[in-house]
Amino acid sequence: MDYTKILEEIYSEITPLLSKGKVAGYIPELRRVSKDQFGMAICTNDGDEYIIGRAEKYLSIQSVSKVFTFALAYKNFGEKIWKRVGREPSGSKFNSLILLENEKGIPRNPFINPGSLVIADMLYKKYRYPLNEVLKFVRELSGNPNISFNTSVRNSELKYANINYALAYFMKSFGNIKADIPQLVDFYTSHCAIEMTCVDLARSFRLFSQQGNNPWSGEKLLTSSQAKHINAVMMTCGLYNSVGDFAYRVGIPAKSGVGGAVVGVIPEKLTIAAWAPGLDVNGNSIAAVKALELFTDKTGLSIY
Ligand code: GLN
Repeated sequence: MDYTKILEEIYSEITPLLSKGKVAGYIPELRRVSKDQFGMAICTNDGDEYIIGRAEKYLSIQSVSKVFTFALAYKNFGEKIWKRVGREPSGSKFNSLILLENEKGIPRNPFINPGSLVIADMLYKKYRYPLNEVLKFVRELSGNPNISFNTSVRNSELKYANINYALAYFMKSFGNIKADIPQLVDFYTSHCAIEMTCVDLARSFRLFSQQGNNPWSGEKLLTSSQAKHINAVMMTCGLYNSVGDFAYRVGIPAKSGVGGAVVGVIPEKLTIAAWAPGLDVNGNSIAAVKALELFTDKTGLSIY
């Protein structure tokens, strides 16, 4: 397969879409990002890599971080995590409060904000410095020791984190959050403010395309079934409330973030990260989703 040529075709086909959508508007740091940018990286399980555009530019990973925190919690606590969080798509906005009352403070899945706050609560209890552990984990997976979080993004997010505070307090009233809320929301917003490149993201996600093995050393970090489970949760819950449309158009497990990244896994084969800051109404990058759709259409690689 000539991935270089495929990436070139994709880049030219998505270019008209770069003017579409809106960049995340809730904090100045994300509002300032220019829409006219696109990057994409592919990492095969054989170790080949292909990139195009701004694949080596640092971007705000936002909700893609939820996959890393979830994987770290799952690695530590195994099936026990499902007592406190579900694994069904929510069909509502990523920071919706609505379902939580009916479902007694148990969020639908680990990739919506309340679910990720519960996962953060688990890590918060386990580690003295949970953010350091998350950073250590992503540095290990990506092979990039320079990965860090952007403090001004974190600080801005904290100023506008009212809904996340509300979600956390509400869950605490049901006994499903234990930590001190300001500290927990600080940890959560800090991991959302981690910056990585498309290359880092694609390299890291090889954990899930390689049955839970460390992408570099081959060491088993997750069992094969844990990796299968994480891929399944990405497939069913990774794209907020457009997960059905994404499965239809792209057909691979993936996770998006409001920074404009979408990172996908084709188990046993490869990983793929695309980034473009213009978002649709659900908070998914218009051009990055299209790029992944073109990739699976052109290559015939999808899980369906
Ligand atoms: N930091 C953002 C929030 O908590 C992440 C949202 C996202 O990427 N969907 O609202």
